[in-house]
Formats: sequence, structure tokens, C-alpha cells
Amino acid sequence: MSIAINKNQTLSNFIGGQWVKSSTSTYEKVPNPATGETLAEVPISTAEDLEQAAASAKQAFTGWKKTPVPQRARILFKYQQLLVDHWEELAKIITLENGKNFNEAYGEVQRGIECVEFAAGAPTLMMGQQLPDIANSVESGMYRYPLGVVGGITPFNFPMMVPCWMFPLAIAAGNTFILKPSERTPLLANRLAELLQEAGLPDGVFTIVHGAHDVVNGILNHPDIPAVSFVGSQPVAEYVYKTGTSNGKRVQALAGAKNHTIVMPDADLDLTVTNIINASFGSAGERCMACAVVVAVGDIADELSKRLVGEADQMTIGNGLDEDVFLGPVIREAHKDKTIGYIESGVKEGASLLRDGRKDPVSDDGYFVGPTIFDGVTKEMKIWKEEIFAPVLSVIRVETLDEAIELTNQSDFANGACLFTDSAKAIRQFREEIDAGMLGINLGVPAPMAFFPFSGYKKSFYGDLHANGRDGIEFYTRKKMVTARHSY
Ligand code: NAD
Repeated sequence: MSIAINKNQTLSNFIGGQWVKSSTSTYEKVPNPATGETLAEVPISTAEDLEQAAASAKQAFTGWKKTPVPQRARILFKYQQLLVDHWEELAKIITLENGKNFNEAYGEVQRGIECVEFAAGAPTLMMGQQLPDIANSVESGMYRYPLGVVGGITPFNFPMMVPCWMFPLAIAAGNTFILKPSERTPLLANRLAELLQEAGLPDGVFTIVHGAHDVVNGILNHPDIPAVSFVGSQPVAEYVYKTGTSNGKRVQALAGAKNHTIVMPDADLDLTVTNIINASFGSAGERCMACAVVVAVGDIADELSKRLVGEADQMTIGNGLDEDVFLGPVIREAHKDKTIGYIESGVKEGASLLRDGRKDPVSDDGYFVGPTIFDGVTKEMKIWKEEIFAPVLSVIRVETLDEAIELTNQSDFANGACLFTDSAKAIRQFREEIDAGMLGINLGVPAPMAFFPFSGYKKSFYGDLHANGRDGIEFYTRKKMVTARHSY
């Protein structure tokens, strides 16, 4: 089995195709959130480590940018096959370090593979445009080129999918890439690097520097890193965007969320409840596309709340590697405490606690919070305003779709929003008036596939070009316009 799940390993950085020990003396334990057992120690790397990585990635760029695009794509085809071959192993690592159940981890690996498949279309994606006759005997054309060394900073909640939003497309476009994975889920990244090497990626094209703030600041301030992709919480996204752009970098920073799901009186309740349960409590609510707020329109509210609680009562909570477990732990003890703080605040502010996940009987060793449901939430409450990022669902009651849309649009965040209804009129009004980047109709998690952009806005996104799709290729390339006069 891979190095990545040997117990108590001390992780290294991946620089120039070698596993390089960090120069730091600071290491953090990486526990399995379901058991508290230490899986590894991750280096909190230093500015010098980042410097070494940037020099290696810069040097590798000189050869990689000249590697013909079909050749780059062929490595990604090989990589895709390796990811497929190692699917279960990768999913297991995700469950071990993140806590989400194995089926969800398996699905996450699929999402990562889809990004690699999209990036392997690089010969088409990298094409420019030409016009043979902008004037007599004068032609003009646009050619696409890589930027150089790109930095990627990723969160704990999707250790595979989020890095795969970035590096496959970035390297397919001819850039070299430095990944700073979340220090809370660093294991999977190392396995991705091993498989990239096995696929034949030249040394230095993909680099990992583990750590936290110092590495992030090193990337943001480094003169040889012209572009940064970030995914994480809102305050850090804003900081990364402002710091990176003030240093003249291209930055895309995907941030937090508070996604609303509107349920109309004509909604199919079986479909609605199943989807909301999955969207709210899947991955322990630690998804940027999680349903955090249900807006119940009209007289459906009582039945909807009752059925949500009924389903939540049936949920199996435990270690995500155990069969039939749906709800795993949250990522750390501190996050569990913070979540409990939010539940206390909801109670204090007068919401009605229909289901109290603090009372679910689960192991004390892991960081478990059971599915929690509040009804009667209002927009004055902290549990409505802030991203909780845990298995806590708020139900808000309104009388009309107009009110539901108005409330949803008052959120600071604008990642996703969903609507459950049979009404074509309601669907059209929702699509036209809702202020969010990714909309779902009669489904719970409207995350776009790799060939479309991941489109949040307001405080859910800082930048211009989103991750994935054509936006991704635009972000990782720059253009040259060539105008030529001919004698013919
Ligand atoms: P986080 O912001 O704590 O960490 C993200 C990355 O930033 C990590 O690599 C971390 O080491 C680094 N970091 C953290 N604090 C920093 C600081 N002060 N200075 C510099 N770097 C710092 O986020 P997280 O808790 O790992 O991830 C959860 C968050 O990510 C949630 O808010 C979630 O909504 C968001 N998210 C958003 C999307 C999206 O597409 N919009 C996708 C996934 C996750």
C-alpha cells in the first residue's frame, strides 16, 4: 500500500521530483477525525522551503512550456488511467484524513478524474484564433501561452477534487504548479504527486510545499509566481485576493458559502427530503455547495420539517470507512466546539431546535456532531448570517416565492441556490431573479462538472475568471496577438 496511509509517517515536500525534508522544526499532527488516531505529521514549511520550490518550478518551466501540447496531454491520459486504477485507495485516503464516508470519497475521486479528462483536451483548449485578411495581405492571429509558475492553495474539505480543479489544467496549459494543500488533509496530495510521477510528468512540473501561512505568504509575495488559485474560507480568500493582486498577480479566490434551498408548496416531498438530507448532511455539511438553509414557502413547512427530522433520526453516524455510515465526523475537535457554539447561539437567539445533534450517541474519540435542524430561523440570527460548515440546517418559513428570493438574495454569499417545485413559472422566476452563481432545480448539490466554470460570486468568489471550464484555461494562459503583412 502507498506511503500515504502508513501510520505516523512524517511527510516531506515534493520538490524537483524528490521527497525533500522541510527545513522547519514545526510539525502538526494529522489525526483521523473519526478516531483521533494520528495518521501523520505534516511540516509547517518555511519561506526557504517555498523559495527552493519556486526555483525548481521556474527551472522546470523552461522545458515544460516547450513540450508540445499533445505530449503534455498524453501524460494526463496516462495519469487519468492511474487514478482510475487507484480509485479505491485514493477514496480510502480521503475518508481517513477528512472523515467523509467512503461513498462520498469515491465520488470525490470521480470528480477529480473528470478534471483530468477535461484537461487532457489541451490541444483543443489551447487553440488560438486567426483571421487571414484583416487588410490586403495582412493577417492576424491569437496564440495562447502558459504564464509560468502557478501557485495553488487548497482547503481541507475536498483533498482531491479541489487540487484537481487547478493543477491538471494549469500543467496541461504548459505552466508548472506549486500546490500548498490544507495542512489538515495533506496525505492525498502526496499520493497524487506519486501518481503524476508514475505517469511520466517531468521533475519540477508539479511541486508540493506543505504548511500554512508562511508558505501562502511566500507564494503571494514571490516575484516568480505570476498567478494564484485559492479555495478556502471567505476571510482568507479576501486576504489572498487583495495581497496577490496588489503584488500584480492574477488571482482567483473561491470562498465560503451559505446556500439556500427554496421549497415550493407543489414540490415532490420524497424527492425534496432525500436531496436536502444529502445536501445538508453529506460530508458532514463541510461542502461549499452544502444546503445550509431551507426556505419553506407556504403550508409545506410543517410536513417538510417533520420529514427532515424523521430522516435525520434514521441516519447512521460513525467512521466513514464502516459500511452504511452516512454521517462522519467534522474535521477537528476545534471545529466541533465551534459548531456547538453555533447551536447554542441558535437556541439563545430564539430558533426552535427540532433536532439536537449534540445528543447523538457517538464515539468520544472522533469529532462527531449529529444532524442538527433548527426551525423558525430569522435573518437576524447568527446561524443564518454565517457559514457554519457543519451538519446544521436552518429552516426559514415565508409565504411567497418573492419573499423566498428576496431573503436568499440578502445573504452575503452567492455560491449556490436550489429550488424544488413543479412550476415552470417558479423555475423561470428563480433562474432570472436569484443572486447566486450555481443554481439547482429539483436537485440538492448543483456543482458544475469540470467543463463548466465553478461560478460563485459576492463573498463566495474574488476574481474574474472562475475555476474549471473555459474560464480555467483563460486563467492559466495569456495571449499573444500576431499581425503579419505578406507579399502575397
Ligand atoms: P481555510 O481558509 O481555513 O484554509 C484554506 C487554505 O488557506 C489552507 O491551505 C490553509 O492552510 C490556508 N490558510 C488558512 N488560514 C490562512 C491565513 N490566515 N493566511 C494564509 N493562509 C491561510 O479553509 P478550510 O477550512 O480549509 O476550508 C473550508 C472553507 O473553504 C469553507 O469556507 C468552504 O466554503 C470553502 N470552500 C469553498 C469552495 C468554493 O468553491 N467556493 C470550495 C471548497 C471549500
